[in-house]
Amino acid sequence: MIVEKVENYLKRIQDKKHLNAFLEVFSEESIQRANQLEKKIHNGESVGKLCGTVVAVKDNIAIKDKKLTCGSKILENFTSLYNATVIEKLLAEDAIIIGKTNLDEFAMGSSNENSAFGIVKNPYDEKRVPGGSSGGSAVAVASEMCDVALGSDTGGSIRQPAAFCGVYGLKPTYGRVSRFGLVAFASSFDCIGLIARDSISLAKTLNVISGYDLKDSTSSNQKVPEYDSIIQNLPKDNITFGVPVEFFNDGLQSDIKNKIFEIIEFLKSNSFQILEISLPHIKYSIADYYLLTTAEASSNLSRYDGVKYGSRIELPQSIKDLYTQTRDEYFGNEVKRRIMLGTFVLSAGYYDAYYLKAQKVRRLIQNDFIDAFNKVDFIISPTTPTTAFKIGEKTDNPLSMYLSDIYTTSANLAGLPAINIPIGFDSNKLPIGMQLMANFFKEDLLLQMSYFIENNFNKNKLGN
Ligand code: GLN
Repeated sequence: MIVEKVENYLKRIQDKKHLNAFLEVFSEESIQRANQLEKKIHNGESVGKLCGTVVAVKDNIAIKDKKLTCGSKILENFTSLYNATVIEKLLAEDAIIIGKTNLDEFAMGSSNENSAFGIVKNPYDEKRVPGGSSGGSAVAVASEMCDVALGSDTGGSIRQPAAFCGVYGLKPTYGRVSRFGLVAFASSFDCIGLIARDSISLAKTLNVISGYDLKDSTSSNQKVPEYDSIIQNLPKDNITFGVPVEFFNDGLQSDIKNKIFEIIEFLKSNSFQILEISLPHIKYSIADYYLLTTAEASSNLSRYDGVKYGSRIELPQSIKDLYTQTRDEYFGNEVKRRIMLGTFVLSAGYYDAYYLKAQKVRRLIQNDFIDAFNKVDFIISPTTPTTAFKIGEKTDNPLSMYLSDIYTTSANLAGLPAINIPIGFDSNKLPIGMQLMANFFKEDLLLQMSYFIENNFNKNKLGN
């Protein structure tokens, strides 16, 4: 049965190759592993919690002896020497890793158009983007090429592509899941998270990958609840949803707005409380996010110098040429833009005016959420201001591209958990996603509510 499932997924990957979701597929190894697992079951040996679960992995997460390109020419031929902690944990529970998925270069982007290895196409309309930066992972799940996919979320890169592709996507609390083996973009924002076709799969996998890790000093030692066994125990009394006034303005596509209002009515009819709230500093979140993440990125990406890792220019005239020509040749435009921005933000004359001020604003945004979660259990919003846009539509205008993260970046600024839940389709039959945020380490509550909506709202509305 496991072998058959893996074979079916491999066939889907082959049939839908033109979507470009995978950068590498581990065909033989996954079939071999499936055979081993079936043997284990047959012999009555004990098996792990994820026995036979087929997982796709974003190609900025390290798997031993596999390429780790980060969607960049600078790491095109780089092979990882070790497993990320999440990979160790998945393998220890008998998951099968089917391949590495495509992404925006170093996870910088909202459309997957920044990958050095070609764009990824949205399965609902192949002229449209799948979202980014975990676009390959979202497409792999939406197109049934795996059970679950790992992604990374620095400012929305799990939730936004999940919304564009009609699947569930969870960004955990900062520190819930070890970042060891995740290639750093902006270290104080980066989170590994999950994409799946249902809430239960998210819960089961989150159970396995969460927890303290000696190798990541920012990982938390908070107890990991048994997410999957408590997913049906949603406390129905005294649950309040906050609706931030700032999130429902002009830039929001009307189909999405209407769907969110429909969900709000549904929640009311199920005796949940709805409260209008205000997050006064949220209007600074995009600017703040791009100041701070570019600063961190410029520092993190200084390690790609042609000496330590990956690609190197041939016959440089001097050490300086080695650095500059390597970086010029092998980094893509978006990565260069961010390195320059980040270097500027951190430079001696501007540090106080930009970086330091942005750190203070980050705290104000976090305080807004702390205040809000004193009053409410969830914050409800759209995940994206529009449904999937056309390939090429925003590539010439980085600012308009950055605005597609308007609802997602604040969770990363504050370190909060958030989930995308598919809730319907727009007039072009493109998926619409809603976002729920909850207080720190309340992934259990998010998953319970996601499960409730999936089984009570979606079951009749989405026809599944
Ligand atoms: N789209 C955002 C960016 O370009 C978020 C990326 C991410 O979460 N990795 O930075």
